[in-house]
Amino acid sequence: MNTCSVCHGKTIQKYITYTQWYHGELVAGENVPAEVCENCNEEYFSPETVDKLQHAIELHRSYKTIQVSVFQFS
Ligand SMILES: [Zn+2]
Repeated sequence: MNTCSVCHGKTIQKYITYTQWYHGELVAGENVPAEVCENCNEEYFSPETVDKLQHAIELHRSYKTIQVSVFQFS
């Protein structure tokens, strides 16, 4: 368990869905290990996880495609 550097709350180990824009496309990774702040939900990743994420995103090795709902904020 670590401390959140944003709010100093406690972080807990979780498996999250990570999303990132990559060359104009929204990509997502499931079951990504992260330390998540219980207070503000800030997410922290180990250097190994960041490496793996970048690799997976660049290799574009997705196993499924999903639809994403988009709304206008007005
Ligand atoms: Zn926090």
